[in-house]
Amino acid sequence: MSSIPLPLAAFFMDVLIVCLFFSKKAQVNKETQIYSVLIIVNLLECIFNVFGLLYIRNVGDLFFSSLIQKVDLLFMLFWVTMMFIYIYLVSGVKYNKHMKKVVFFLLGIFSVAVLVSPCVPIIKEAAIDSSGLSPIFTYLYVALALIGIIVCIFISVLKDTKNIFNKKYFPFYSFVLLAIGALVLRSHMSELIFEPFVMGYVGLIMYFTIENPDVKMIAALNEAKLSAEKANRAKSEFLSNMSHEIRTPLNAIVGFSDCILEEETLEMTKADAKDIKLASENLLEIVNGILDISKIEADKMEIVETDYNPVEIFDNVAKLVKPRIGDKPIELNVKFAPDIPYVLHGDGGKLRQIITNILTNAIKYTEEGSVSFSVNCLNEENTSKLVISVEDTGRGIKPEQIDKLFTKFQRLDEDKNTTLEGTGLGLAITKRFVEMLGGKIVVQSKYGEGSKFTVYLKQRIVTMNRPDNVENQEFINTMQIKLFDFTDSRVLVVDDNKINIKVALKLLSNYGINADSCESGFDAINRVKMGTIYDLILLDDMMPKMSGVETLKQLRECVVYDIPVVALTANALAGMKEKYLAEGFDDYLSKPIEKNELYRVLLTHLNKKMKKKEEKDNNLEKTFVVPKLKEQTSRKSVLVVDDNKINIKIATKLLSNHDLEIDSSLSGIEAIEKVKNKEYDLIFLDIMMPEMDGVETLKHIRELGFKKPIVTLTADAVSGAREKYLAEGFDDYIAKPIDNKIIDEIIFKYLK
Ligand code: ADP
Repeated sequence: MSSIPLPLAAFFMDVLIVCLFFSKKAQVNKETQIYSVLIIVNLLECIFNVFGLLYIRNVGDLFFSSLIQKVDLLFMLFWVTMMFIYIYLVSGVKYNKHMKKVVFFLLGIFSVAVLVSPCVPIIKEAAIDSSGLSPIFTYLYVALALIGIIVCIFISVLKDTKNIFNKKYFPFYSFVLLAIGALVLRSHMSELIFEPFVMGYVGLIMYFTIENPDVKMIAALNEAKLSAEKANRAKSEFLSNMSHEIRTPLNAIVGFSDCILEEETLEMTKADAKDIKLASENLLEIVNGILDISKIEADKMEIVETDYNPVEIFDNVAKLVKPRIGDKPIELNVKFAPDIPYVLHGDGGKLRQIITNILTNAIKYTEEGSVSFSVNCLNEENTSKLVISVEDTGRGIKPEQIDKLFTKFQRLDEDKNTTLEGTGLGLAITKRFVEMLGGKIVVQSKYGEGSKFTVYLKQRIVTMNRPDNVENQEFINTMQIKLFDFTDSRVLVVDDNKINIKVALKLLSNYGINADSCESGFDAINRVKMGTIYDLILLDDMMPKMSGVETLKQLRECVVYDIPVVALTANALAGMKEKYLAEGFDDYLSKPIEKNELYRVLLTHLNKKMKKKEEKDNNLEKTFVVPKLKEQTSRKSVLVVDDNKINIKIATKLLSNHDLEIDSSLSGIEAIEKVKNKEYDLIFLDIMMPEMDGVETLKHIRELGFKKPIVTLTADAVSGAREKYLAEGFDDYIAKPIDNKIIDEIIFKYLK
């Protein structure tokens, strides 16, 4: 036994290690089990050492002193056994199930030998040592254990020399070094005994070398691993599913195209073309779904608010999805409450998509019975609370799967091996859209019986009741479309892909446009340099050698006149439109080109070349005569100010129902000049005009002393726009597209 200071120091170190180790929730494995036994043995040995020393010193009874010494030796036997087992385990030496028995058998034999053999305590100054057979048996056992440990390490080093630096062996290496050091020191300082200190120190080193991961961290890691695996599985499933989804319509397109090439009658060709169109629409739906999700995830999905007719949207969606029923014995019931407002304000496009998705699903996942689509509402002051529900008698959804419904790329287990097509994106997008519109979606379902999806949504009411002359309004809309003739316009299509050119030319020919085409940016620039004047260029971006963006730059440098250039691209990812507009394009058309979008582009950019169709005009004039107003507003003069000629044409057309003298100006400056020279009774003034905007023009006109009403005629229809313009000093406000009834009201109000 040593003098007290060293065992005391070892005691505090052991207490610290025990507290550290057991305060942390460690994962239970062989290493941590051995380690916990070792550090407890260390601590007990220390305590025993201190009290034993005090007893032998102060009482000195021979029998008990000898017993204390023997127990101390037993601690050493046990400790060195645990060290052997530890190294045996971590060295990777082939596990032998009899080894443990042999080790504990030897430990038992030697322990008995130590206990029964004589042990004489020798008090040397401050220290106590022992002699006799008992310590000899102990040293023999320790020597055996050390040889065992060295053999284990040797075998593992033979397998791989790098194993010599295995950090798990460090406690043993330090034990050997410390033991040698202690022996050397003891030969000079016989009063000091180092065992408890050496054992404690080895315990401390081991604390850092054992495999002792934090349980919490392990749990978090496991969770992260599981979710990464799940995401990976979902991605793989999605890819294989997507491949199937894309191939199915492509197969139809290729197959029916082959048929068309061999068919002889026009009817057969038309029937096949219809199927090709249907398959193409399916394909487009898939691509749009992916784009929507990518936009949502990039936070680029925006709310586009306009005034819309909700019943028209509901009705259109019902008509559009009905063909999907096909041959299935399903009855589609549609019921819209009569008090749904005529015009609401909000994102009608997203609302359409929401309903399309849930209605399509209801039809897809129902084999027979009915699908009921109903819309009810609760109107309060200026908001309408819509309750849109779609109920089916389909296969239903298991309660435990309801949560999965709105997860992207997730299809329910039932779908994995069916022929029902789907990407698992529809409901994820739907939910996101409903949330963006500030609404809620609720699913009720009974497995095997059917499901009900209900969407709750608040929308602002613009017009409560359907106007009496609504037929007239619809007629105006069609009239506005037919009013313009693009046949004189020169359009250039630039695309390196011949098929794309063919499609674009064909679509343009529907509007009577005999467009030119070329397959590279160089050609396009050459044509323009040679003096061909185009009214519009549709320019593909992804072209070899010179991209669309580059072509546009060079075009802008060499063309003196203002030529509208529209980016024509299949790159329809989130944010692309903004990117192309920022590059200097005037507009953006994604491929495949949608008829309505192309029309919008033509309408916006070909206004310079449009001309009225005389024949149509004559008919229209008859339709729009309102005799009552005519008498009341006889020969008043009106000025329409708008930088866009089409808008002037539409306004003039609508105003021509009244017996008015109509003048127009294409800019604020021109309008001011006109007001200086003529007395107008009413001015319609656009807001967004280059050089001088509507608000500034209004101020200048008022400064001239003009006191008659000035009405803004603007496309700025966001909520609060009316109030904003009235506050600016306008007398009234009309939002574009112009409602003829409102024009009538304004004329009646100010010119009667
Ligand atoms: P999908 O493209 O697979 O239809 P959705 O996101 O639209 O993707 O729907 C996710 C899953 O929810 C579907 O795969 C289907 O299993 C289930 N589901 C959706 N609507 C219904 C419904 N009306 N009846 C039963 N199951 C449905």
